[in-house]
Amino acid sequence: MFRFFLLIFSLLLAVEGWGAGLSLSAPLAIGTAVWLQVTEVPPGSRLSGTLNGVSFPFTTDHRALLSLDMEAKPGPVVLQVWLDPPQGKQVVLTQAYPVAPRHYQEEQITLSKEKVDLAPKVLARAAEETAAIAATLHRRGGRVGYESGFRQPVEGRFSGVFGSRRVLNGQPRRPHNGVDIAAPQGTPVVATASGTVALVGRDYFFTGNTLVLDHGDGVISLYAHLDSVAVQPGEWVAGGAVIGAVGMTGRATGPHLHWGVVVRQDRVDPVLLPGVRPAGVP
Ligand SMILES: [Zn+2]
Repeated sequence: MFRFFLLIFSLLLAVEGWGAGLSLSAPLAIGTAVWLQVTEVPPGSRLSGTLNGVSFPFTTDHRALLSLDMEAKPGPVVLQVWLDPPQGKQVVLTQAYPVAPRHYQEEQITLSKEKVDLAPKVLARAAEETAAIAATLHRRGGRVGYESGFRQPVEGRFSGVFGSRRVLNGQPRRPHNGVDIAAPQGTPVVATASGTVALVGRDYFFTGNTLVLDHGDGVISLYAHLDSVAVQPGEWVAGGAVIGAVGMTGRATGPHLHWGVVVRQDRVDPVLLPGVRPAGVP
């Protein structure tokens, strides 16, 4: 008799979504993106969610990529998920996570004077190129290609870490919003995940030959200083497919790939993306 009630009770849980829970692939930290998985979701349910009041989209298998910008404030973040089952009442799941401060290292860079003190004409051109890149980072919608996770686009030595406070010829500059991977010129670069080519920038002043992929839902990856680009704007590229080759175009002191990723404008450490390194290992 007791087992019968237990069965009915668990059926009710399954039908109404009261057994649902929230699980993260790694702790939510400043400058990272992690998978949220909503567990025990009754089939046919609708999910919506917010992180600190900002809404985020779900994948078809009840996951969402949650992110905190590299300069996000430490302190608790509140995750809320609303689950609307096909039958029964809406379920609200709320969870607060502590977020520790993150300290970045300082990096001294010395470049020749003509590469730093830019002529007005060069400045104007660079501003246009920066605006073209920024426009792609605002993209939403688009075909989703990040559900199966991410991969490192090229193997090599990490010559520049994420978030470092750059001091250029003694002048503080913006923090490094990606990672630099040193590899021989011409080494193939692959797409970190499937996506649509959002931008092919030719010989940009700072980033050289520049490629931007749109993975849908505001998940965007950027590849800079490429020697060559192997894809066209608008083209769909599978994760792992060759998109170009390592170079030192633009303002670079040696052949390397600058790889950056934003999740709905949040600048995150690409190396810590799900699939690139085992979960929770910095
Ligand atoms: Zn870089």
